[in-house]
Amino acid sequence: MKVFVLDTKICVGCYGCQLACKDEHVGNDWTPYAKPQPESGHFWMKVHETTHGQVPKVKLEYTPTACMHCDNAPCIEAGNGAVYKRPDGLVIIDPEKAKGNQALVDSCPYHAIYWNEELELPQKCTGCAHLVDQGQKPHCVDLCVLEALRFGDEEDFADEIANAEVLNPEFGTKPRFYYLNRPKLFIAGDVWDKEADEIINGAVVTLKDSDEKLVAETTTDHFGDFWFRTLSAGNYHVVVTAENYQTQSRDVQLDRSLNMGDFPMARM
Ligand code: SF4
Ligand code: SF4
Repeated sequence: MKVFVLDTKICVGCYGCQLACKDEHVGNDWTPYAKPQPESGHFWMKVHETTHGQVPKVKLEYTPTACMHCDNAPCIEAGNGAVYKRPDGLVIIDPEKAKGNQALVDSCPYHAIYWNEELELPQKCTGCAHLVDQGQKPHCVDLCVLEALRFGDEEDFADEIANAEVLNPEFGTKPRFYYLNRPKLFIAGDVWDKEADEIINGAVVTLKDSDEKLVAETTTDHFGDFWFRTLSAGNYHVVVTAENYQTQSRDVQLDRSLNMGDFPMARM
């Protein structure tokens, strides 16, 4: 059974996979797996951009998505025989049987199915089944030069899958598209001497949880910045200390990545 694995840490958001899908499917008829994709409006592979944090402390996350080739796929149930799962796990909309079935578009909770007005067809990623049949990779995977996006046999990716996530597991569809290293939340800020109007390099910043238990400790860099990454949502307490300065502390309720902004330190 095949799986897709996307390493978020490696993906740079080059959109190569999205373009590869167009290159492979627009104007090309891969019957019995898919009729041609229209030139516009369809994104069988789509790169989403998410901004975490607030300016100037922001991180961009790129999340390529496609059909998740779910093992418990609501599109198959809704298709009344027009959608099927191949033995290798790829989910295919039969272009002959699905003609005119616009309701299929709404059956996918991941919004992976598009309506082709001209052909009157619901369409989506086929996993490039026509290439897989020849022992090749899907074209999006082939054109990901950084190998952030990979495809292959489930057993070959067992270690990665053990540490991976799926998108929206609450849908309960058992996706075969796995994501590695999805970003956790961060807290950032900058520390400076309010009299001299200069940043403070080497200030000690500690992060404690709501029970005052130490979570992490760091020092400000030569920009006066500090970062705590890979945090979970929750309540935290941030304490900044520096020699010859009065200590500062703040409480944080973290539900999204946060730039706490300035910590102007007063001299003792
Ligand atoms: Fe580019 Fe690969 Fe990321 Fe797609 S998965 S945007 S091809 S780096
Ligand atoms: Fe069906 Fe949507 Fe799952 Fe793809 S992602 S198999 S279209 S339910």
